[in-house]
Amino acid sequence: MESEKKIVGRCPKCGGNIIKTCKGYRCENNIGDNPSCSVVINGILGNRKMSDEEISELLSNRRIMLDGFMSKEGKAFPTVLELTDNGEVLMQSVIGKCPHCGGDIRVGSRAFNCSNFNSPTDKCEFSIWRNIGGHQLTLTEAQEICGNGITSAELEMFRDDGSIYRKRLGLSPDKLQVVKI
Ligand SMILES: [Zn+2]
Ligand SMILES: [Zn+2]
Repeated sequence: MESEKKIVGRCPKCGGNIIKTCKGYRCENNIGDNPSCSVVINGILGNRKMSDEEISELLSNRRIMLDGFMSKEGKAFPTVLELTDNGEVLMQSVIGKCPHCGGDIRVGSRAFNCSNFNSPTDKCEFSIWRNIGGHQLTLTEAQEICGNGITSAELEMFRDDGSIYRKRLGLSPDKLQVVKI
């Protein structure tokens, strides 16, 4: 008799179901004595417990930006998890190229920052706040600003009195500021 299992998404390697186990997540074809797949995803990544919903998003989008990972020194950091075709999970803090200087843009806890921020020769202060007008920028929106110079859609933002307005976010002409357009 087939026992009940919780399916959280599709295996990136073989297309089988990824199911929840006591230790994390595993491809249904990676169970038993002669498994045809090797995919296992740990339930704890970067000292952070993953929720079923986060694993589902990682499996369907192949990437997810999350806060609350913990370094060996006990310092919290955000990063982007990337799922490879082989089912490996990589941590990638670089989300794109700086539109101002071409350096790497990394996700930080409060902003996406240019990696040349501390450069003695090519100092660059470009950054994108992760919260603008009460809107939490998604990874895709930050990448659109860096890559296209503007978000593809208007974003819902909030005034002091709570009233809602919708604007795109884009680059100022000098490509140093993020402005509402
Ligand atoms: Zn598989
Ligand atoms: Zn820069």
